[in-house]
Amino acid sequence: MGLTQKKTYRLAPEACDALFAALEETYDLYAPVRVPAGGRYALTDSVIYRQIHRFSEIEFRERSTYPMKEALTPISQTLFYFTEDNFQESKPPRKPKLIFGRACDLNAVKIQDDIYLHNGPVDLFYQRVREEARFALMECTTQFDGCFCCSVGANETDLHSLAFSFREDGAFVQVCDPAFAPYFKDAESSDYTIRFPQENKLKVDYPVIDSLDLVNQLKEHPMWKEFDQRCIGCGSCTVACSTCTCFETTDIAYTQNPHVGERRRTCSSCMVDGFDQVAGGACFRKKTSEKYRYKILHKVYGYDARFHTGPMCVGCGRCSARCPELISYPATLQKLSEAIAELKQKGETSHD
Ligand code: SF4
Ligand code: SF4
Repeated sequence: MGLTQKKTYRLAPEACDALFAALEETYDLYAPVRVPAGGRYALTDSVIYRQIHRFSEIEFRERSTYPMKEALTPISQTLFYFTEDNFQESKPPRKPKLIFGRACDLNAVKIQDDIYLHNGPVDLFYQRVREEARFALMECTTQFDGCFCCSVGANETDLHSLAFSFREDGAFVQVCDPAFAPYFKDAESSDYTIRFPQENKLKVDYPVIDSLDLVNQLKEHPMWKEFDQRCIGCGSCTVACSTCTCFETTDIAYTQNPHVGERRRTCSSCMVDGFDQVAGGACFRKKTSEKYRYKILHKVYGYDARFHTGPMCVGCGRCSARCPELISYPATLQKLSEAIAELKQKGETSHD
């Protein structure tokens, strides 16, 4: 489907730079950038979110290695500073953020909103950035390996104020929020239509678990056993996941005066050892297969049971792309669907 009713403009690279300079008077711009030799293996690059100032900095040709969430929830963040009997909240960013992302990335924000804003007390540190943030859609003009946004309904969005289709020679830009129209008063109009993806090469039949009884039976299913051998519990899949929100908090005491310090929160993962350890040392999920089972069932069942908004997944494919053990999330979903069918059939047979 195209975004047809709104005005679209054609910008050369220099015009994009001028637009970004004008936007930067109000916003800090965040977009995927290429980090040469910053990848997992020698001489490989990574593509990560950073503040940008110019068109040439944006890496629009491939999916970012790590997700857009880093622009809203940094990997490490100081929440507050403390002394013996006082504490002070860290300062919010000086300017609101304008963040470039694909449809799946923007849909992931809605899931982050559920978790940080609608799940008990509001997370103030998320809220203060999120309320001010604006988004710029990046059109997917090509398919990336392992994407399946269409299978989870994350291929379209209305969260963005602007929509960009980036090319080597500039961009088409559609204005979706009238508040941004003044930035384009001298720009060249275009009849280009920015489109959302309608079909992925990879199609995933996302499993549906329709009862607590079924999820409890699935916990006992032998399908999880193989992950004790295959999964090394490194947490890469969750750090790379657009929708995962696990973090840990640490109090850092300053060396010169241990009564003074700061509390930080750092991105973490339900897949790593120690994450689910509670006071007294008890640990509820000791085996890697138990951690992996928890992660999958939370994405397929637990999140939806809490919020009723569908799967906790936008089909970005980053989890499978980052797994050093080549564990495929879609393949796991397929096994889960087969286990569901098997258990349902058994249930029907036992009632006959
Ligand atoms: S589970 Fe995988 S495909 Fe789904 S949002 Fe997370 S990283 Fe993307
Ligand atoms: S990235 Fe792969 S090996 Fe690492 S925790 Fe996730 S599934 Fe396991």
